Amino acid sequence: QVKRAGRHDFRFFTAAMQQRAARHLQLVNALRYALERQQLHVVYQPQVSLKTGRIVGAEALLRWTAPELGAVSPAEFIPAAEESGLIIPIGDWVLRQAVRQARQWLDDGLPPLVMAVNLSAVQFRAADLPHQVSQILYEEGLPPEYLELELTEGVAVQDPQGAIATMNALHDRGIRMSIDDFGTGFSSLSHLKKFKVYKLKIDQSFVRDISTDAEDKAIVSAIINMARSLGLTTIAEGVETVEQLEFLREQLCDEMQGYHISKPLPPQEFEALLSKQRD
Ligand code: C2E
Ligand code: MG
Ligand code: MG
Ligand code: MG
Repeated sequence: QVKRAGRHDFRFFTAAMQQRAARHLQLVNALRYALERQQLHVVYQPQVSLKTGRIVGAEALLRWTAPELGAVSPAEFIPAAEESGLIIPIGDWVLRQAVRQARQWLDDGLPPLVMAVNLSAVQFRAADLPHQVSQILYEEGLPPEYLELELTEGVAVQDPQGAIATMNALHDRGIRMSIDDFGTGFSSLSHLKKFKVYKLKIDQSFVRDISTDAEDKAIVSAIINMARSLGLTTIAEGVETVEQLEFLREQLCDEMQGYHISKPLPPQEFEALLSKQRD
């Protein structure tokens, strides 16, 4: 929250704080119009089975380019959207785009895949989330088994009981959930049993040095083994090299995504990649 302070109070802000606050305001103001000015679009990153090498999923990732700001990274504008509440309309829009795209690819006869959509903790805590997701699936004509919601461990920090209730409601509606950036939070292990998640996304910070760092090897291998014994699917994020891929395959990780296969792609390029494996 930016302080609504008189001119003189600004002496309490450091220059860096002032800059950050100004940037935040600038982003929020510009974000308000991003949807109606059609400055947002969605790119899709392939998720590949380590067993078959085939594309089994796509992660929808939001992109924003505004004339006055250029391309802004989601790492910067998602937090601004969350703090301002704009993540609710923007998140709904992303979800609908991704669901519509998944329906379109099915209609085009492309190999079926699961569409993964990132969900902010703010969206997750909205009272009508399960209904809202079902409504979008229904309106766009996509069966729920083709959708996966990516949540972070953060969703459960404030209110574990509420999070469990929401997850149960989503699960009852046939909507799958994965835990994004797994391993970077602390609450996970004790809650995993209670959460109705079906997939863990191993955070890219553990994958990065997997070929050289013994500790990272141990962590990733432990996550995969724990997931297997709990009956959960695993996917590794940020896979950039064949060495990383081979280690993950040896450890029986189920899936991977990363620049080694493909960066996130505009719909038509994703389609081209997907249609190459039609047979
Ligand atoms: P995330 O969901 O963990 O997404 C993975 C990020 O890693 C993406 O960054 C992706 O482009 C990047 N990435 C993929 N493969 C590689 C790789 O091999 N190497 C490296 N270094 N990076 C790779 P991106 O698209 O900038 O998104 C950043 C974060 O912003 C996402 O992390 C997610 O938390 C958030 N985000 C993006 N789109 C949405 C959205 O529609 N809604 C919400 N709530 N959050 C979003
Ligand atoms: Mg994600
Ligand atoms: Mg992630
Ligand atoms: Mg992330």
